Amino acid sequence: MKPAGVVRKVDQLGRIVLPKSLRKRYLMNEGDPVEIFVQGDHIILERYRPKCVFCGSMAEVSEFKERYVCGVCLEEMAVLQQ
Ligand SMILES: [Zn+2]
Repeated sequence: MKPAGVVRKVDQLGRIVLPKSLRKRYLMNEGDPVEIFVQGDHIILERYRPKCVFCGSMAEVSEFKERYVCGVCLEEMAVLQQ
């Protein structure tokens, strides 16, 4: 992990403004969901990518009843129907 060369202050509501250059570089636009991870003493921000509720895969994920399911798990569930 390397520093981005930017220091920002947290405001009264806990918000931090991400520099435009970083938002552009990491394709973060207004309204995009961002997921927050913690690792030791670090807080990590990533663009949110839906994961399969069953296996955690991010490949070929479809939304079904407000949950995300990958193609492999959908196929496995289809076999159960037979
Ligand atoms: Zn899955």
